[in-house]
Amino acid sequence: MRDLHVSDTARQEALQLAESLRRKGIRDERVLQAIATVPRERFVPADEQTMAYQDIALPLKCGQTVSQPYIVALMTEALAPRPTDTILEIGGGSGYQAAILSQLVDRVITVERIPELAEEAEQRLRSLGIGNVEVHVGDGTLGWPPEAPYDGIIVTAAAPKLPQPLLEQLKPGRHLVIPVGDEWLQRLVRVRRDGDILHEEPLCDCRFVKLVGRYGWPET
Ligand code: SAH
Repeated sequence: MRDLHVSDTARQEALQLAESLRRKGIRDERVLQAIATVPRERFVPADEQTMAYQDIALPLKCGQTVSQPYIVALMTEALAPRPTDTILEIGGGSGYQAAILSQLVDRVITVERIPELAEEAEQRLRSLGIGNVEVHVGDGTLGWPPEAPYDGIIVTAAAPKLPQPLLEQLKPGRHLVIPVGDEWLQRLVRVRRDGDILHEEPLCDCRFVKLVGRYGWPET
């Protein structure tokens, strides 16, 4: 784990959050340690501070949300990240999921559609001393071709179906973790590519904000 610029109180609260996720069934010790290391309070708005270490999703600007810590941990565990990996995240939002991944892998590339959110996420990551996350603005349903293929891809917004460009940018044998469904309810799935064959494994039901883009939902 990398050493972050964090207060003792934040460290204590993040540790308690990690312990609560362990009781809920998260098993991967490295993931739990990442949850215990990253101060979620730095990723949630000022008026939500008292809730920062509760296991709930919290509202972000522009009608978006910071995901529930349990879902962040579950998705990270499902990716099965390795220390030398480069991971692509679609839906950077607050930057919290990217910060968790930054503790576990060599490089994280995150794509966020809303420029204002991308800029703030970048500032937060920088202020914590996290230097291995690149934040880009764009339509993540197209993936991020310049650095492809990836050792894992995580999508933190709800897709109507699997976006083809993401399948093409995933290394064989590695995982794409993504919520797929309608606007109100989705199934979190883990997809593994074996050549041209896709293995899909359901993880749980969930509810994310919409993935808006060419291979996602149309803009309204
Ligand atoms: N991982 C984030 C969760 C953010 S919510 C976190 O830890 O805070 C989902 C995000 O996906 C929103 O910020 C939304 O703007 C973004 N999003 C939606 N469609 C997108 C697209 N096509 N490309 C990139 N980001 C997208």
